[in-house]
Formats: sequence, C-alpha cells, structure tokens
Amino acid sequence: MQKILILFLLIISTSAKSFDEHYKFEHEYYERIMFGKSKSIEEAKKLIDSYKYNKLEVRELSKPYLGPIIDGHAHPRKASQKALSTGTKYFIDDMPMLTDKANISMTVIMITPNTYYDETKWNYYYDFAANNENVLTNCHSNFIGMAANKKKYKKSVVDKEFDETIQKFKNGKCYGLGEAGLVHYNKKKKNPPKYRGEQSELDLDLKHPIIDKAFEFVNENKMPINLHLEPFHEMDGIDRLIEFKKFYKDKCRKYPDAKIVLAHTGMMPTQDLEEIFDYCPNTYTDWKIAFHWSSLWGFEDLHIPNDYRFKLHEVWAKSMEKYSDRYFFGSDHKLGKSPSYDVFVEHYMKHVRLMIGSLSPDVQEKIAYKNAARLFKINLN
Ligand SMILES: [Zn+2]
Repeated sequence: MQKILILFLLIISTSAKSFDEHYKFEHEYYERIMFGKSKSIEEAKKLIDSYKYNKLEVRELSKPYLGPIIDGHAHPRKASQKALSTGTKYFIDDMPMLTDKANISMTVIMITPNTYYDETKWNYYYDFAANNENVLTNCHSNFIGMAANKKKYKKSVVDKEFDETIQKFKNGKCYGLGEAGLVHYNKKKKNPPKYRGEQSELDLDLKHPIIDKAFEFVNENKMPINLHLEPFHEMDGIDRLIEFKKFYKDKCRKYPDAKIVLAHTGMMPTQDLEEIFDYCPNTYTDWKIAFHWSSLWGFEDLHIPNDYRFKLHEVWAKSMEKYSDRYFFGSDHKLGKSPSYDVFVEHYMKHVRLMIGSLSPDVQEKIAYKNAARLFKINLN
C-alpha cells in the first residue's frame, strides 16, 4: 500500500512537470478539482488508489493539439442564487469570452435530461444562440423527460411541447435534438465520495411512441439526435447493455437519415460501442473527460475515456483512431452551476488539448472539430 502511494505521488509530480512544459499547470488546481471533497489529501489518495480503472493502460501525453475545437455538447447556465452563494464566478454570459480564450470556435449547447422540470427557465438557449455567432443550440427534447414522468405530464402536454419544438426548428431557432435522456440514474449515489446532492432518475419505456416521433423528426431533417442512456448502474445491479445495443441497432436501421449520437462515448465498453458503429453507419459519439471528483466517480461504471491524470485510456485512444469519423468532443460542462466549472477554460481545455494531441496526427483535427462541423453543418470560415 505504502509503495502504491509513493508511486502515486511520483506520477502526480512528474506529470505536473510535463504539463508545465506546455502550460503553466498548477498543481493546487488539480488537488482542488480532484480531491476537493475529501477530508484530507491522504483520504483522497486512498480513494483514488481504489479506483477501478487505474490498472488500464493509458496513452502518454506529448504535445498538445493547438488548432480549433468545436465543443459539441455543453450546458451553460444563467446565474442563480445557489451558484452565487457557493462562489461560482462564471456563467453563460461569460461563455463567449471564455471559449474565445480557449480557442473553441463553436459551442453546441443543449438542455440536460432533467431540464424539462424547469422548461420555461431554459428556453433562453434559443435566444442566447441567436445572439451569439459562436453558439448553436440543439432543439430541446424536454418532451422526452416529460413523457418519462407520466404522473406529472399528460399526453396532451407532452405532445404540445413536441409541436412547439418542431416549430422552433421551422423558425430556424435550433438544429439537432437533445440531449434526450431516456435512461438516467442517480450517479451522485455512487461511492466514494458520498456526494451530497442528487440527480433525478429517468427511465422512459423504450417503446414509448414519443421516441419514434423524435426519430422521425430528425430523420426527416437528416440531423443529429443526442441520446443519453446509461447502460449500467452497478450499485443497484443494473446492466442493460444488451437491451440498449438492440435499441440503437433497431433505430439506426429504421431511421437511416438520422444522425444518432450516443452521448459520452455511449457509457459502455469500447468493443460494444464499436459493434454499434460497425452495424450502424449513421452513429456517432461525443466524448467527455472526467475532470473532477464527482464526474470521475459518477462514471466509474460508465467507461469514461480518461483516468485521474487526464490521460486517455489506450483502448479509447485506439478506438478514436480506428473510428476517427465517429468521435467528436463534447465537454458536457455546466458552466455556472458550481465553482468546479470555473476552471473549465484555464485547466480543463488544456487537458483536452493534451489528450487530443496524444492521438495520431491525422485524426486530431477530425476529433477536435471536423466531425462536429460536418454533423452540425458548421462552417468555421
Ligand atoms: Zn450532457
């Protein structure tokens, strides 16, 4: 155990040095982001030693990718009393300035699976995208969350929301659909570190007719649909991988013009995602990194592509190279939610650039922006 800890400290200190060659990487930030919620650094180190993916081989970092980036999946927020009280500094209005600094050429914003709860509050994405030339919004899929919540929303209300979304599209307010959260468990429950807070669970019947309506809409318009389905929730014995793979395969055949995006690398092992890629030419995935304590542990059974040193697991690096037309970057940041997102530009994007830079040179631009540009019809010039 002692040896592992020493090794761990060595890894941290040497990698901090190599980051410094390219960036002024500050070690304290890493500690704040990754260890912030544990009682002590010692406790944090013990916990990280127990992290289940630690033994996976990782792709070493060398030079960062310095070209343009499209962030194809983000959820920035307006200031709220709650966020301000925790000392959060940056909010959605700061995003253009922050993304400019980080050389992010375009950000695709979208509702989260649970936004439907507060649907009126979130319609500001349409105006925000209209007023910012480097921001595009997906059409909101609130009707999916509503349909999953039968007690609260009648069919007529769900259908009305669906029709209004179609109207937004027709008025040129949005492109693509999502983030449609069909199956979403409470990831905050995972241990460690026993986070406070909770994520509302969603579990829509995959045969619900609203799903086919959504697919018909994107298929007709040959656009992306961003789907969030968590195949695993190990702590409750949940493994729905076979069921979900069948779902994706059925839908991709039935709707060949839809561009089906599996959110967050499908949250499944690479070989299963690749099986879907092979079967479905019209499937894609956005990849995010776990960049703080909560995302690392929340995704501990969901096959996050990076480890706690912000290196790509070799299996993911290889998959990105082999299926280089299918992956695009999608930070999944919730700027404005809490102080952990304040560091998104200064630190998070530096790690992303280092990770992209660890891929073979001919695939870096595809993953960084070309695939997303094609999918969302973004012309960067
Ligand atoms: Zn998301």
